[in-house]
Amino acid sequence: MILSDNHVHTFFSADSTTPMQEMIKRAIQLNLSSICFTDHIDYGFPSERYQIEFLFSIEDYFETIQNLAKQYSSIQIRTGVELGLKKDTFETINALPKKNPFDFVIGSTHLVDNIDPYYEEYWEKFGEENGIFHYYETTYENIQLNFDIDVYGHIDYIIRYCPTMRKAQKTGERNESFYQNIMKKNAEILDEILLSLIHSGKGIEVNTAGLKYGLGHPNPHEAIIKRYHELGGTILAIGSDAHKSEHLAFCFETLPKLLSQCGVTHYTEFHKRHPVQISLT
Ligand SMILES: [Zn+2]
Ligand SMILES: [Zn+2]
Repeated sequence: MILSDNHVHTFFSADSTTPMQEMIKRAIQLNLSSICFTDHIDYGFPSERYQIEFLFSIEDYFETIQNLAKQYSSIQIRTGVELGLKKDTFETINALPKKNPFDFVIGSTHLVDNIDPYYEEYWEKFGEENGIFHYYETTYENIQLNFDIDVYGHIDYIIRYCPTMRKAQKTGERNESFYQNIMKKNAEILDEILLSLIHSGKGIEVNTAGLKYGLGHPNPHEAIIKRYHELGGTILAIGSDAHKSEHLAFCFETLPKLLSQCGVTHYTEFHKRHPVQISLT
């Protein structure tokens, strides 16, 4: 049983309107023992081009969570953040967890060459195969920079937005052979990503939004989770990436079986940036 959701967005994130209180109420309804808010901070996001800015007041954030934690004592409420990683804002990004007592820090690749792969222009510029490889290359480079993070978020997030999977999402069909082919082609760089994370003591996350997006798999795919485990990785955070309360702990009931098939026996929660291993059974 997984009773903790460690990737949750609320109205502090520019792409969510959900009040924190609503997420907490839903978590209590679902009998979760803990919830970790991880709202978006993406320093240097091209906000003018995309008309959205992923920033918020850290003081307000900590204060709001502290007040809610006092109000709702039946559930553990933790303060995390999801940082969009970017080479040219390295100093600013790394200063944030140093200055603020976060429980948990997720680092994610949301931009490649300053372009958000959510938008068509990314695929027009790079094409599908190169676009996917370039995302992994950027992730690998970010890991080498040694950002102050606990886990790397949704490692194969790029698959959600590539043209083939977008088309498959529309028609509702699964495209397993495309998925397998892409993983085979990127096996080397994916291994390098996983090994660098393991060597630097950082984990990965299992993000169930892939299931929500109709990919038929979490992000990353089970094969990547299995590989992380085979290479010696032990730090796996679990999160739904919910932006609405109905998506909290999305498909968590399927995870114990899925993870144990990958050889995984424990998942990880972070308390004051310290990993706590919890048995899946
Ligand atoms: Zn993300
Ligand atoms: Zn997220």
